[in-house]
Amino acid sequence: MLEQFDPIEKTALEALKAVQNEAALEAWRVAHLGRSSALMQVFDKLGSLPKEERPAIGRRANQVKQLLESALAEKAEALRQASLARSLHQERLDVSLPGRPALRGRLHPTTQTLRQISQIFADMGFQVYRSREVETDEYNFELLNIPAYHPARDMWDTFHTTTSGVLLRTHTSPGQIHVMREFCPQPIRVILPGMCFRYEQVSTRKDIQFNQVEGLAVGNEITFSDLKGTLTDFARRMFGQDVRTRLRAAYFPFTEPSGEMDVECFLCDGKGCSVCSGSGWLEILGCGMVHPVVLRNGGYDPQKYSGYAFGMGPERIAMLRYHVPDIRNFFANDLRFLEQF
Ligand SMILES: [Zn+2]
Repeated sequence: MLEQFDPIEKTALEALKAVQNEAALEAWRVAHLGRSSALMQVFDKLGSLPKEERPAIGRRANQVKQLLESALAEKAEALRQASLARSLHQERLDVSLPGRPALRGRLHPTTQTLRQISQIFADMGFQVYRSREVETDEYNFELLNIPAYHPARDMWDTFHTTTSGVLLRTHTSPGQIHVMREFCPQPIRVILPGMCFRYEQVSTRKDIQFNQVEGLAVGNEITFSDLKGTLTDFARRMFGQDVRTRLRAAYFPFTEPSGEMDVECFLCDGKGCSVCSGSGWLEILGCGMVHPVVLRNGGYDPQKYSGYAFGMGPERIAMLRYHVPDIRNFFANDLRFLEQF
């Protein structure tokens, strides 16, 4: 009976030498020290042995068990050390490697242009006045001299909300009424930047949302030459001191007289190219003297006060400056586009 322990011990120790990882070690433990191992079966049978044989067999069985258990513990420690050494070697940090560059964010090209426009007008004494994006028909149209029957409403296709008479503003101009009613009868010099919405056929030049920067000056004896001087100076600061500008007559219901300002095409120096459609000029804004009806709606007596207003699109200006062919790029959220600015 005693001689069976030698092969049990020998086989187990031999098998242990081949163990290379923790999974194999666990399998080894189950095979040689588990409940159905040859060694454990000896313990099970111990009770059925003749009384005089039990002490010797039991002692030897315990001896083998302790031997295998300490061999197991030794192997487990050896494996742990080996895996530590391996990870220290393989996962070693090379502190001399250059670091990974952190990606820096940047401002959206429209925001950059908006800030530049704001800065130029701030230098000229204009304050920023923020106004709501959801407006009433009254503020968006009626008070700006565009009554419901007026054909000029065709120029502003509108998103209406489910509440009658409430809509997404089609221009920043309703802010003119808000600011006038808030500050009347003080003089006003503000710009009104913000998002506008129109029910448009989306194309390379038109989107259903866009930014506008409106300007408004109201006071005593403000004349068209003040308007022209301010906008000419703006164009020079925005596009370069040498830029040439021109004013053309135009029509807006809320200004009289009205005009549009062009700058000489800076891509072809006025010779004519595809961007300026061969004309040599690029339209940058609409403007005019505030209509007496609008002044009165803002609370100012048109007999005593006068004012000018203008409006421009920062996306359009960015398109001209950076030669962006499609306005939809500004809202497409494509990093390949945005990272160029
Ligand atoms: Zn051109």
